[in-house]
Amino acid sequence: MEILNASNLSKVYGQGATAVNALDDVSFAVNKGEFVVIIGPSGSGKSTLLHLLGGVDRPTDGSLSVEHTSIFDLNETQLAIFRRRQIGLIYQFYNLIPVLTVEENMTLPLLLDGHKVNKKQFNDIVTALGLNERLNYLPNQLSGGQQQRVSIGRALISNPALMLADEPTGNLDSKNSNDIMDLLKMFNKTYNQTLIVITHDERIALQADRVISIEDGRIAKDEVTRP
Ligand code: ADP
Ligand code: ADP
Repeated sequence: MEILNASNLSKVYGQGATAVNALDDVSFAVNKGEFVVIIGPSGSGKSTLLHLLGGVDRPTDGSLSVEHTSIFDLNETQLAIFRRRQIGLIYQFYNLIPVLTVEENMTLPLLLDGHKVNKKQFNDIVTALGLNERLNYLPNQLSGGQQQRVSIGRALISNPALMLADEPTGNLDSKNSNDIMDLLKMFNKTYNQTLIVITHDERIALQADRVISIEDGRIAKDEVTRP
């Protein structure tokens, strides 16, 4: 079942002589449960693509459907709600809110939309992430690996159609990197959670089912690495 369809996405920054073609006519589809790595060198357009896939920025041209909703046809308010409900974003630097506890950070996306927290689901996620003893801690009382686990919890809490991770291990040592990738793969394989990871790290690409290589804003390769 198709969960994402990017069609002829282009993004131009600026205009006239200084315009930058960051993304040029990018099309691909992702099925439910796939683990896709998008890889490319610095400046190739990865962050631009991630911002479009996450509905954080709008393209100059092209369209994007997530769960059969054409997201750039939504207005800003509708898009913000769609994003919190259907897209779990994981960043290199965690983007946790420093004055909120682990539990508050994790449940914020639900509470913002007036939804109740499903206690069982919350407890299951917290246990899988090994955060039971940390629920009342603030982010700066946690290690980097723990903070990234909180951000994974926040991304999972609304059962999103799509998890999007931007260099999720870029700020971690190799042990914590492996732990975070193992957790992301566990949620992908056990719960069929669709996962797209943006990285420049070949070692992460080796773990994916499919690798899309971006060069100069275009798809240079799109390979299924695991059937
Ligand atoms: P990557 O994430 O692969 O490093 P980016 O998507 O950040 O690539 O950048 C792609 C291209 O777009 C680069 O040439 C970059 O300089 C340019 N770019 C990115 N963001 C902006 C912006 N806000 N304004 C102007 N140019 C930008
Ligand atoms: P993990 O591998 O669980 O991410 P570490 O091995 O890095 O954690 O850290 C071990 C313990 O030290 C953690 O349980 C955490 O509470 C504490 N700790 C690590 N880094 C920090 C930090 N920057 N500030 C406060 N406490 C920290």
